[in-house]
Order: sequence, then structure tokens, then C-alpha cells
Amino acid sequence: TLYINLAVCLIITLVVLALTGATLGRYQNRVEELATTDKLTGLANRQAFDLLIRQAMNDAKRNQTPLAVLMADIDHFTEVNDRFGHLVGDEVLKGVATALKNGLRESDSVSRWGGEEFLVILKACGSEQARHLAEKLRLTVSSAPLWAELEVGAVSISLGVAELLPGDDMDALLGRADNALYEAKASGRNCVYSSAALLTLVPGSHDGDTNSDNSEDSGGNAPVA
Ligand code: GH3
Ligand code: MG
Ligand code: MG
Repeated sequence: TLYINLAVCLIITLVVLALTGATLGRYQNRVEELATTDKLTGLANRQAFDLLIRQAMNDAKRNQTPLAVLMADIDHFTEVNDRFGHLVGDEVLKGVATALKNGLRESDSVSRWGGEEFLVILKACGSEQARHLAEKLRLTVSSAPLWAELEVGAVSISLGVAELLPGDDMDALLGRADNALYEAKASGRNCVYSSAALLTLVPGSHDGDTNSDNSEDSGGNAPVA
């Protein structure tokens, strides 16, 4: 009976240990998820973005594949908040996040970088392809049916595109995307600018602007109807 008792004790101990381990594992996963996820939009947060971009840059350098990032910012978002309130503003933010997520491939990742700024990492993607994708995302956002449901008029985003260049660190890459986004804002918003085009842009020309097909978009540049 001593051996039987010992065996029963051992089995009980093992079961308790297994249950504790499983609970701790679940708890740890949940903590990790909370630490890397933006609560409002469910997108990756800035901390997660930092890890993702470093990993993507290392992979791109090792495998000699292109890498591009998109920086997107909602146009005149302050006005949305002012006119319709912060809760409606939050719904608009969630809607833009969903539109971006749905418009991307599985291998791409989109993060909420700041208040109403988003960063997209496009793996194995050169600047030309990235520009097209940015344009597609711009149209997806401006034509989303949600804005009519929320009765906020037109909502649009501006995007800056940058491709990883040899010798780039993260700040250099994001700096070029930010400059391109700045140009997109300066040239009227609801458009895409690429840093590649900016490098060769003749002052006063609009080669960097892929918004020449604005006629497709009845929303135009107006932030709210
Ligand atoms: P621009 O077209 O130049 O981007 O103009 P903007 O008004 O969008 O200016 P900016 O990008 O600086 O907008 C920041 C605004 O975003 C101000 C802030 O109140 C709002 N915002 C940031 N985070 C949140 C949020 O979590 N919820 C809501 N409702 N608003 C937010
Ligand atoms: Mg904005
Ligand atoms: Mg902003």
C-alpha cells in the first residue's frame, strides 16, 4: 500500500504541476498580447512595431529582398473629433484600422504608431509596388461605407512611402516615410507620396504625387461633407 500511496501522490502532483503550467502559459500569452496590442484598434502597438520592423529589416538584408514601409495619417482628424465628438472619432479610427488590415496581405503588418498614425510593413515589396498598394489603401479608406453609417461625411488618409536603402537604419527609413507623408499633406491630403519620387522630384513638379486619378474618388480632399 505504501507504493500505491506514493504512486497516487506522484500522479496528483504531476496533474497539479501540468495544470499550473498550462494556466501560467495562458496567462503569459495574455500578458504578451496585452503588451503588444493597441486596445482601441486591436492592431499591433508601437512596441510591437519596433520589434517587427527590426526583424523585417534584418530579414531583408540577409535575404537581399526589398522592403517598404507606408506611413498613413488620417486627414483633418481633429475636425472629426471637434464636430462629432471623441467617441465617434474612436469609431472612425477603428474603421480606418480595419480598412487597412483588410487591404493587406497576410505577410504584411500594420501597427498603430501614434494617435491616428499607422505604419505598414511590406515585406518583399519594392517602392513601385508599395506605391500601388498605398494608393489602393487610400481608395479603400475614402470609399468605406462606414463613414455614411457614422454620418461623418468623407474620411481620408494621406500616405508616405519609403523603401529600405542600403545603409539604412530604422530612423532613416521611417524619416523618409515621414517626409513623404509630409509632402502628401502639404499637397492637399488624400494622396500618396513616395520618398523615391521625392529624391528625383524637380521642385514645383508633381511627379511624386500618385493622386492624378482623383476623379475615381468622389470624396475628393474634403475631410468632412
Ligand atoms: P492633418 O490632416 O494635418 O493630419 O490634420 P489632423 O487634424 O488630423 O492633425 P493631426 O494628425 O495632428 O491630428 C491629431 C488628432 O488626432 C488630435 C487628436 O485629438 C486625435 N486623436 C489622437 N488619438 C486619438 C484617439 O485615440 N481617439 C480620438 N478620438 N482622437 C484621437
Ligand atoms: Mg491627421
Ligand atoms: Mg497625426
